[in-house]
Amino acid sequence: MENIDIARIFDDIADVLELKDENPFRIRSYRRAARVIHDMPEDAKTLVAEGRITEVRGIGKGLAEKIEDIIKTGTTEFYEEIKQDAFFHLTELLNIPGIGPKLAVKLNREIGVETVDDLEEAAVKGKLNSLEGMGEKIEEKILKGIEQYRRSTGRFTIADAITYAEAIMKTLKAIKGVSRIDIAGSLRRMRETIGDVDILVISKSAGLIMDAFTSLDSVADVLAKGDTKSSVLLRSGIQVDLRILPQASYGSALHYFTGSKDHNVVMRDRGKRMGLKVSEYGVFDTKSEKRIAGKTEKEVFRAVGLPFISPELRENSGEFEAADRGTLPHLIELDDIRGDLQMHTKATDGANTVEEMARYAKGLGYEYIAITDHSKAVRVAGGLDDKELAAHIKAIRKANDKMDGIEILSGVEVDILKDGRLDISDEVLSECDVVLAAVHSGFTMPRDEMTERIKRGIGNPLVNILAHPTGRIINEREPYEIDIEEIIREAKTQHVALELNSYPNRLDLKDVHCRAAKDAGVKISTNTDSHADLQLRNMRYGIATARRGWLEPDDVINTYSLAGLKKFLAGRRR
Ligand SMILES: [Zn+2]
Repeated sequence: MENIDIARIFDDIADVLELKDENPFRIRSYRRAARVIHDMPEDAKTLVAEGRITEVRGIGKGLAEKIEDIIKTGTTEFYEEIKQDAFFHLTELLNIPGIGPKLAVKLNREIGVETVDDLEEAAVKGKLNSLEGMGEKIEEKILKGIEQYRRSTGRFTIADAITYAEAIMKTLKAIKGVSRIDIAGSLRRMRETIGDVDILVISKSAGLIMDAFTSLDSVADVLAKGDTKSSVLLRSGIQVDLRILPQASYGSALHYFTGSKDHNVVMRDRGKRMGLKVSEYGVFDTKSEKRIAGKTEKEVFRAVGLPFISPELRENSGEFEAADRGTLPHLIELDDIRGDLQMHTKATDGANTVEEMARYAKGLGYEYIAITDHSKAVRVAGGLDDKELAAHIKAIRKANDKMDGIEILSGVEVDILKDGRLDISDEVLSECDVVLAAVHSGFTMPRDEMTERIKRGIGNPLVNILAHPTGRIINEREPYEIDIEEIIREAKTQHVALELNSYPNRLDLKDVHCRAAKDAGVKISTNTDSHADLQLRNMRYGIATARRGWLEPDDVINTYSLAGLKKFLAGRRR
């Protein structure tokens, strides 16, 4: 049982309670529990075993007992009850954007919809029109939502995939005779979503490893079990393939199974032109059929006249040309990051105080952070008005005076209202060390209007960073319509940085946009948008996307020294 499996159980419970229109407090507490567990960077199993589970903020005694139950038995009594409930089979419908619990129950009662397939059929046949309060527009929206849902099922966020992969690697590494183990595939290339996980191993004890692999706790189904390859389906639906490989061709296999397919095609063609055959088994001289490389990836690249190319760049999107010209980027690394410039505290919808966030960030080795709570337009988050923000800034400064070893900058994530005005007065904004601006409402605006809105927002000379510039939430919400090239141009003109939000289901800007921003000379800010101290660790996902976007340390303002950062921020406020 991994954290996400436990979280899913609590989410299922919340879904059923919601369908049954039960006590909202109870629903919210299950929902919150799911989120806390899902976002925990430590394994619940370990925390329970070490008796530390109640130390996690948001996990009380009652919840801790349920988590223990789930870890021990794979379920809880209440979950088993819920699964028998007549409403349980309607929970799939809630995955469709635009379908809430009330509508799901109505669709079920009035036209017998039980599954997503039923819903699609009803929409296509125009049956939804006959329901009270439904029109053609809603029908269209639901069909679009179904399409989006189908596209996202089977794809996991990088954070979820890594959680599984790392847990499996840890178990397998402990087995005697494993001399090398690697993640390959799209997860090694750090794509924002992952279809399945590939693991490669060098080992003399194949039997032991395959036994351990196919009997992991998290395995729901063994799809294949052999001496060199096994595949399992985890409880969460993610497929994991494990291959055992000989040392002599390990580098070739690692390269081949890392992909991408497009990258591999170019490698093969390149080899061919040099009289070489490049495959997962090695690099061979076509004439003599002798293997000339294959032990390591470096060897494979060298055989075709290339330097090592980082996995994140292997998309055939210019990496070969850059390698030949000697202009491959020196990609940014997590260690280059000196601070985090977006996080929320108890003042709005965060779980921790300013001091707690600062202490955790200090533990990560950061030199500075910015506290950036929401402004009042984001009502669900308890956003601050002018007066409250002014007081919060004072409190942040006070905390900064007391704290040694890290600089706490005062900031805000100010809302860009529908007409492009900002939600806080210039007078108060000018008191902030750093101002992030962002859109949190009116996502369905036409493209031109949205682009103008954001241009106006960042046109305010007090704004330093445009936060989560396209508003997408992976597997949940499509980006709003926006002319991103125009926004990049405007950011350049206005000396505004664009955020790469490192929250694993945002990762917005995405890789290609990061690269476009870099090419245009626009700086990027990688921030976690943390709502709890543990989430500050999500920076690794932002760095993964930054690397896919060819970013180097100098392209990212979070790598600057405090003095350098202050200089960058002051550049705007002339
Ligand atoms: Zn935001």
